[in-house]
Amino acid sequence: MKTLRTMLYCGHCGGPTAEGNHEACAQALAMEPPRYCGECRRRMVVQVHPMGWSARCSQHGDLSSDQG
Ligand SMILES: [Zn+2]
Ligand SMILES: [Zn+2]
Repeated sequence: MKTLRTMLYCGHCGGPTAEGNHEACAQALAMEPPRYCGECRRRMVVQVHPMGWSARCSQHGDLSSDQG
């Protein structure tokens, strides 16, 4: 079972997802890992590897490209 996270902040620009237009951000996120945690807006530690990427928030743990 997959846990769906509430994305309060844009993973690309860190802005609130409820405000502004993040279409370009969504397109960028299809190609590159997010920089900000969607839940707390912390900068995440991003690691890129051949199979994709993983990003870690110190509060919310790992996010990876496998999770969609
Ligand atoms: Zn954005
Ligand atoms: Zn977080």
